[in-house]
Amino acid sequence: MAFIDLTHTLIDQMKEYPGDPKTRLRKVYDEDCVLYELETGLHTGTHMDAPLHYIKKGFTIDLIDLNNFIGKAKVIHESEQVINPTGPLEEIVIINTNWHKNWGSDSYFVDYPYLSMEFTERLIENNVKGIAIDTCSVDKPDEDKIHRKLLKNNIWILENIANSGKLKGKCYKSYFIPLKIEAEASPVRAFVERI
Ligand SMILES: [Zn+2]
Repeated sequence: MAFIDLTHTLIDQMKEYPGDPKTRLRKVYDEDCVLYELETGLHTGTHMDAPLHYIKKGFTIDLIDLNNFIGKAKVIHESEQVINPTGPLEEIVIINTNWHKNWGSDSYFVDYPYLSMEFTERLIENNVKGIAIDTCSVDKPDEDKIHRKLLKNNIWILENIANSGKLKGKCYKSYFIPLKIEAEASPVRAFVERI
């Protein structure tokens, strides 16, 4: 079985969305055993947003049903800045914009592609479980209306996926697995399997 890993590696001092807490990953013990400590915001690297991120009294990520994290995924390759694809969808939608190639540079957080409202409405009409994208946000910089709309409809948002340019086929089974943590978001191990 061949899996494709869509996860960026969490490292010490990695680049963050402007204004987010800094990530610190350091060895605190190194004698008869090794022990690391991680201090990070939950929107660092490849991560999933749960409804509570924008919706008052919305679900925390530990309360999302496990079935929502695994499913048939449609991969959409889109090079426009405003993402508005047509055509059939699957229960999970993965958008490859090739923006992941800018990962690690400051320009990654500037002028990235984002979802159109029209496409967002189509995701809702199609009852998708979630949407994954290789940019730092589904929203235009300094906006949040796409986040609000998706999260209000209990559609999770997975941002900062890696390697999505490697998805040459269109049909995959995706596994986007967050921590069971009582919070508004979580780092995710994201991978897919060709079907
Ligand atoms: Zn986020």
